[in-house]
Amino acid sequence: MSEIDLHTHTTASDGTCTPSELVSQAVAVGLRAIAVTDHDTLQGLPEACAAGKDKGLEVIPGCELSVEFPQGSMHILGLWIPARPKHLQDTLDYLTKLRQQRNETILANLHAAGVPITYAELTATATGTTIGRPHIAQLLVRKGVARDLPDAFINWLRPGTKGYAPKAKLAPRDAILALKNEGATVILAHPCTLKQDHADLEETIKKLKDMGLDGVESIYSMHSQAQTNAYAAICKKLGLLESAGSDFHGTNKPNIHLGRGKGGLRASYVLLERMKAYRQGLGLPAHI
Ligand code: AMP
Ligand code: ZN
Ligand code: FE
Ligand code: FE
Repeated sequence: MSEIDLHTHTTASDGTCTPSELVSQAVAVGLRAIAVTDHDTLQGLPEACAAGKDKGLEVIPGCELSVEFPQGSMHILGLWIPARPKHLQDTLDYLTKLRQQRNETILANLHAAGVPITYAELTATATGTTIGRPHIAQLLVRKGVARDLPDAFINWLRPGTKGYAPKAKLAPRDAILALKNEGATVILAHPCTLKQDHADLEETIKKLKDMGLDGVESIYSMHSQAQTNAYAAICKKLGLLESAGSDFHGTNKPNIHLGRGKGGLRASYVLLERMKAYRQGLGLPAHI
């Protein structure tokens, strides 16, 4: 079997495996290729790519960006980010600054609710450049304010709770252009989280395609077979690539396993071969 997982996180954002540990786990699971797609950062990519070369695992350098959408949540993956991007780092630096401001607001909200956490404690908890709610959740658990991570989100960090502050996001068009400008292949992550019915989703994906979207993550940990089939049908109809990923976060999402999702996820290397052929057709580098 030749399997892949094109959506994973490391300690560069809110995953709990270092890039090297992620690569070792992928090899142990028997995967042939992974994409490393941390939120808003490329920090983990050099280590992941080096470990991949060392261990004989194909590592596609990527990232994941949250974008504005009126309902649900829309995330965009960029695959084949070059080692020396032209402008993408400026965009990511800007997002990191916005995250810092948001984290300060969340900590101020928690403080007002009687839960004091300092920014120094937060930066000490995170090991990477992208610091988000999962890191604050870890601190809430460690301080005994929350029982576990889901409890921290339910009582303190999700919309409608005392700690919550919204995250500023790029417009979909700006995120897609920032990635395309680097020659990345751009994938709509987990279309299930858009919470749209089939017809509206198809309309949304068509608009994203007109902005430069290349594919859709039809195979995903939380998708039922019926959902995967429906998303695959949209890809076929619109001439888009299909992608596949678990959204592995290590122990921050303990029920999601690398390359296996909730257990039944299987993604063939054929999907990656199709992406590479598509990139070659566009004159873009397709090997690592
Ligand atoms: P942020 O980008 O800082 O808003 O954090 C989003 C991250 O928080 C996502 O990657 C999710 O994995 C995680 N997350 C969101 N909701 C929950 C939840 N209810 N329980 C645990 N993790 C969550
Ligand atoms: Zn995450
Ligand atoms: Fe996501
Ligand atoms: Fe993700």
